[in-house]
Amino acid sequence: MHELRIAEDLSAIVLDTALRNNLSKVTKVNISFGQLIQIVPAIFEFAFRETVRNSVAGSAELDIEIVPVKMKCMNCGSDFQVNENLFACNICSSTDLGIIQGKELFIKSIEGE
Ligand SMILES: [Zn+2]
Repeated sequence: MHELRIAEDLSAIVLDTALRNNLSKVTKVNISFGQLIQIVPAIFEFAFRETVRNSVAGSAELDIEIVPVKMKCMNCGSDFQVNENLFACNICSSTDLGIIQGKELFIKSIEGE
């Protein structure tokens, strides 16, 4: 259940940003998660709500984008999007792969007033 720890980290950033920008209310938080982070959005949202309760972000809407995994084959050099959990090159079947995208974990933007 790493959602709780991530929710605590991200809510701290949201509250800090709200404070520095003199926001009296955070209305929306846009978040990107790489697929490899394996977040369950519903659990994350629940944990986030708990951590921002009674704060300026208490009623903020959450918009969670899941970024698909992209890998590069170290053998033939092709890059491709990973579907399912099949971690092998779809051209040469090599499993010598590097991750290009999919480990993201960040707040894209915060809206407020
Ligand atoms: Zn390959």
